[in-house]
Amino acid sequence: MASWSGTTRRQALTGAGAAALGATAFAAPRAEAAGRVAFPAGRPILIRHATVVTMDRGVLTDTDVLVEGERIKAVGRRLTAPATVIEADGGLLVPGFVDTHRHMWQTSLRGVGADWTLGNYARWMLEKWGPLFRPEDVYAANHLGMAEAVNDGVTTVTDWSHGLRTPEHAEAAVDALFSVPGRARFAYGNAFAPDQSWVTDGRVDQILRGRFDGRPDQLVTMQLALEASDTEDGRAALRFARDRNLPVTSHAGVFGFSGDQQIRFLDEFGALTPSLTLVHGGSLSDDSYRRIAAGGAYLSVAAESELSAGQGYPPTAKAREFGIPVSLSMDTVVWWSGDMFSAMRATLGADRGLAHLRAHEAGHAVADNALRASDVLEYATLGGARALGLDSLIGSVTVGKRADLVLLRTDTVAMTPTHNPAGHLVFQAGRGDVDTVLVNGRVLKHRGELTGVDLGRARRLVRESFAYLRSRIPDAEWEAALNPPR
Ligand SMILES: [Zn+2]
Repeated sequence: MASWSGTTRRQALTGAGAAALGATAFAAPRAEAAGRVAFPAGRPILIRHATVVTMDRGVLTDTDVLVEGERIKAVGRRLTAPATVIEADGGLLVPGFVDTHRHMWQTSLRGVGADWTLGNYARWMLEKWGPLFRPEDVYAANHLGMAEAVNDGVTTVTDWSHGLRTPEHAEAAVDALFSVPGRARFAYGNAFAPDQSWVTDGRVDQILRGRFDGRPDQLVTMQLALEASDTEDGRAALRFARDRNLPVTSHAGVFGFSGDQQIRFLDEFGALTPSLTLVHGGSLSDDSYRRIAAGGAYLSVAAESELSAGQGYPPTAKAREFGIPVSLSMDTVVWWSGDMFSAMRATLGADRGLAHLRAHEAGHAVADNALRASDVLEYATLGGARALGLDSLIGSVTVGKRADLVLLRTDTVAMTPTHNPAGHLVFQAGRGDVDTVLVNGRVLKHRGELTGVDLGRARRLVRESFAYLRSRIPDAEWEAALNPPR
């Protein structure tokens, strides 16, 4: 087994192996040494005196949440149980965020594309640098990306993994997703293949059978990431997914790249179903939005990306008009952040900004805002869970669901006072306010610190990976990418 994964192929191939790896890596949280609460395995956890933003039953003040095993066992006032106690002191307890589109294999080039357009990204990231990535580069980026997601309260992240040139790249991507016990959706893609025959040539089946057990509650689940197209290979790829009950995600409605023709094809092929998530979807006609709504497919709106890169205007107003369900995403940290608070803020700003602009052009003012803070909070949580078909498991603070929970402190300056929880989460809170994170009932961050991820190792792997990639990029090319012409 290659040294990049830190585990053996045999361990990596089995759920037990993944669990064993997790047990080794996460058995000794530093909490005790620093005076923080320790969380003995198997002992229930009681979160007391929280302001619980349930997403399905409103906001519950001064409420306790009992977590037993992987699940939320009880939600109520003054719960008592033999349990390890987390005192929330009025902090906001929300379901973990769900990101439905993030190209995590690019994490080691974080921030390079701050001034890029879509054309700049295609030129540098996809055409020039993407082919340089080795399997260990994918592993390093995904491993840090998983740690980042957990740290930021993104308890489920969709790894839109379209840098998988070889089966070894795919194995590395999956190894990394299992290396941190956050929840992830592995979206298998390959942007470097001239067609989509990679879907049906055996490599996808190999990963699907070797690494996934088909249960929706496996911490990492799988789907296909492809650019749906009306070609022989494209149709075969969609049939392949349908035969295996694999959800599909595709970029769509991207200006200059994909448009109404793609949506018409998907509609006529019978693929515009709830198991399809269309990423961006900003450059489409009303006829396309009508078809998407009728079929039940989801949108993944990446407003922070769309507003800067130009795929199309964030289509939340159209989604509202036609009744299309929305989830949110960050796209890639090469360009933008991995911050779902920012995603909510950008989404709300884009929607309201357009409404004001249109109203002013018509000579009047918007009297009341149509899109609310609570709406984008739903997009970022339950909306994402629905898009991934996981809403019976996650997305709300509900008895019986898996305990994917995020606790935000409310004793920081920016969170004092806290009168309007949804508004606070969207406009006041930031990643630094994420105090405690549970995924599947397990505490992965507490009192502001990841309780087990070896960040030193994660940083070293990314540093080594970047050093290799940078050594393959000519200086002039690197400088030109960092400073694209105005
Ligand atoms: Zn994308």
